[in-house]
Amino acid sequence: MDDKEIIDPVFCLRGLQEAGTLACATRAADGSPRVRFVAGLHFELDAVYLLASRGMPFARQLLADPRLQLLGTVRKGVYVRLTGEAHPVPEEEQVRWRLRIFQERPYYRELYPPYKHDDSLVFAVRDGYFQYLDLVSMPIQRVYVPFGDGAVPFSGYRITGKCGRCGSCRPACPENCIETGDPVFRIRQENCLQCGACAEACPRGAIERVGD
Ligand code: SF4
Ligand code: SF4
Repeated sequence: MDDKEIIDPVFCLRGLQEAGTLACATRAADGSPRVRFVAGLHFELDAVYLLASRGMPFARQLLADPRLQLLGTVRKGVYVRLTGEAHPVPEEEQVRWRLRIFQERPYYRELYPPYKHDDSLVFAVRDGYFQYLDLVSMPIQRVYVPFGDGAVPFSGYRITGKCGRCGSCRPACPENCIETGDPVFRIRQENCLQCGACAEACPRGAIERVGD
């Protein structure tokens, strides 16, 4: 990560936009994961728009469960992920956003010939959060940024009040991101790989995993 880079929603949106084709994960009706590449996209500062044919599993899954993740490679070893919900835009706005996507991705117009245009459905992701992950930096950089009215849930390892300050966790950490502290040691979350080596090394079971 460049020292001058400010990781904010605009930076993350630009990262996804420049990635071009994104991996998109949804859930099928039985709860199992589904992932595919999507390129029928348009980016605004307050929303990411996605195009899908109404009959495709992608659209049907989003209509049943709007939760999704979009993942793009900004450059080798650097990723941006957006977690949120995708909801169909109002009927009166469908044509406007569909044409915008066709304008930016002309080959999509070929995928959806005129007589099939009404079959497509535009979804918008407005609220959620971004994760910026730079695995090339040493230590790694992990930044969470809210998008719209979304909140960032905590996910990772943290040191609890059971810590006895013995220091056994520090040499186990590949990112050297555990700081001494009083009354307990502390993990620099922005540099944490979330590998769990510290939790395994702790003789007191003082390091807990929170979230997924
Ligand atoms: S190994 Fe456990 S008890 Fe020791 S400093 Fe680390 S967190 Fe605290
Ligand atoms: S989870 Fe891994 S990277 Fe994070 S503090 Fe523990 S050992 Fe270090």
